[in-house]
Amino acid sequence: VTSLGADAAIGEVAPAGTSRAVVLGLDIGGTKLAAGVVDGEGRVLSFALESTLAEQGPERVLERLFELGRRTVAESGLLSGELRAVGIGAGGPLDAERGVLVAPPHLPGWRDVPVSALAAEAFRIPVALENDATAAAAGEHRYGAGAGVRNMVYLTISTGVGGGVVIDGSLYRGAGGNGGELGHVTVDWHGRPCRGCGRRGCLEAYVSGTSIAERAREAGLAVDSAEEVARLAGEAEATAVQVWNETVDALACGLTSIVNLFEPELVVLGGGVTNAGEQLIGPVRLRVRADSMKPAGDAAEIVRSVLGDHVGVVGAAAIVQERTMTRGVAHHG
Ligand SMILES: [Zn+2]
Repeated sequence: VTSLGADAAIGEVAPAGTSRAVVLGLDIGGTKLAAGVVDGEGRVLSFALESTLAEQGPERVLERLFELGRRTVAESGLLSGELRAVGIGAGGPLDAERGVLVAPPHLPGWRDVPVSALAAEAFRIPVALENDATAAAAGEHRYGAGAGVRNMVYLTISTGVGGGVVIDGSLYRGAGGNGGELGHVTVDWHGRPCRGCGRRGCLEAYVSGTSIAERAREAGLAVDSAEEVARLAGEAEATAVQVWNETVDALACGLTSIVNLFEPELVVLGGGVTNAGEQLIGPVRLRVRADSMKPAGDAAEIVRSVLGDHVGVVGAAAIVQERTMTRGVAHHG
């Protein structure tokens, strides 16, 4: 596991025609849409990104997403009929079984959108929908930092904080596919309001990129992003250091509970905030090891995601590959 740590590069783009289980992975993020053609070994044959512009509404955004998907398939050099299925990752809450986005907070105004049925109509092949962080966990477990690991926790730290859990080799999904919301583990029950769920003191309310920048501004820094806070903290600016240390404390606190709960062999951290690398992960690793119960804390390796920007589409692909191979997939439309 140690060889798959923080410095590993994003998966390379491989030549087409390397495997039979080639699928299209689509990722509906709050700010970015992504599409990628992924083969049966997790290699990304082609990849494209564009802005979500969620305010355009589901109909227009999904039209653009499917067009992005078609362009990506064309660029991959696949022949018609070679594409086997479409996997879609999106922020919850959602109904994975029915393929419906229920009311994702990062896509305001989207309610009960039948994403899978619309995608099945557009592509005429099987479609699977999954919570994006759960899908990312599946991607890292199947093709990334967690390959071969039996118990793994994945945390994505970006605009919000999402999580996914692999228990005894299987992805944990919960009753409706919304389990593993590790960003809403409470680190202070009287704490800051959480935009994602409406409660107080969630991990997300301290360590999301949004919250890091917000706490820095409240402390008097003129910053727009968590990246700037990380840079200033790296330059030993006193207020930024304070905000950064609070971020480390909150993340270590939440992760300690998570490690005590699951006793994972591996914790994988992804998302934009983890671009800070060892500046974040180094002190968090030491704290979790010191604070968690023995021997769980010593067993848990904490590393950075190796799939990087590709994690959304590789995760969505891993989900649909797993479903089509092991139990068949609902055919909508
Ligand atoms: Zn919350």
